[in-house]
Amino acid sequence: MGLSGKVALVTGSARGIGRAIAVRLAEEGADIALNDIPQASEALNAVADEVRALNRRALAVTADVSQPQEVARMVETVLAGFGHIDILVNNAGITRDALILRMSDEDWDAVINIDLKSVFLCTRAVLRPMLKARWGRIVNIASIVGVHGNAGQANYAAAKGGVIAFTRSVAKEVASRGITVNAIAPGFIDTKMTQGLDEKQAAELLKRIPMGTVGTPRDVAEAVAFLAGEGARYITGQVLGVDGGM
Ligand code: NAP
Repeated sequence: MGLSGKVALVTGSARGIGRAIAVRLAEEGADIALNDIPQASEALNAVADEVRALNRRALAVTADVSQPQEVARMVETVLAGFGHIDILVNNAGITRDALILRMSDEDWDAVINIDLKSVFLCTRAVLRPMLKARWGRIVNIASIVGVHGNAGQANYAAAKGGVIAFTRSVAKEVASRGITVNAIAPGFIDTKMTQGLDEKQAAELLKRIPMGTVGTPRDVAEAVAFLAGEGARYITGQVLGVDGGM
């Protein structure tokens, strides 16, 4: 129970990797503020019930994390409910894949806003209380695509590469205040985001994973639990691959 007494805010936690992170941090003893878009509120409330079943407090706050006013409202609501935010996991994300010549302005903007701008907005909003407390953990869910690039995902790669550069910069700004900022770069994880592949695409992909299997949301959540804990206090500005050796 290394995180008892701490409050964690996990964005995009109605399903997939975010849900697994919320449950894993609750297992470590943290109270959990859950977030997702309003359309996902039923699933979000179900995750809140899972957290409560672990005897932790849960607060579900719907907000589009790419919108400054909604992020401000979300953080105010969490602070009013729990009094503090010790851990922020920037997990919400989308893909809008297309080859570059066919990529629309809308596909570009949506991915940059939801996958990158949201990380800036949420981090800025929680930093003031963390700075006051002189303790904080920020974990950003980037992607292996932000490190190596991927054909058909120029928008997503740019956003995730931006998340990595943002992580390294903010880590330097707040390091002296007991706040760490790290990124996780998952490879291929079995969630709704990756379930659209046909058999041939999936077989090709498995060939590129040295461990020969896709990862689970829980695999990513374990890495978040480590980075959020006291044991990782001297680790900041890092990008941890969770990718089966890719
Ligand atoms: P997912 O199952 O699609 O979950 C993402 C969650 O984020 C969804 O519940 C989604 O809600 C929510 N979300 C989307 N836009 C949002 C917004 N504007 N505000 C708040 N919440 C929003 O995907 P996942 O695979 O768990 O992905 C989680 C994170 O891991 C993402 O950042 C993704 O880029 C990253 N990642 C995933 C993989 C992988 O292989 N799965 C690999 C590398 C990195 P709705 O869908 O209801 O809109």
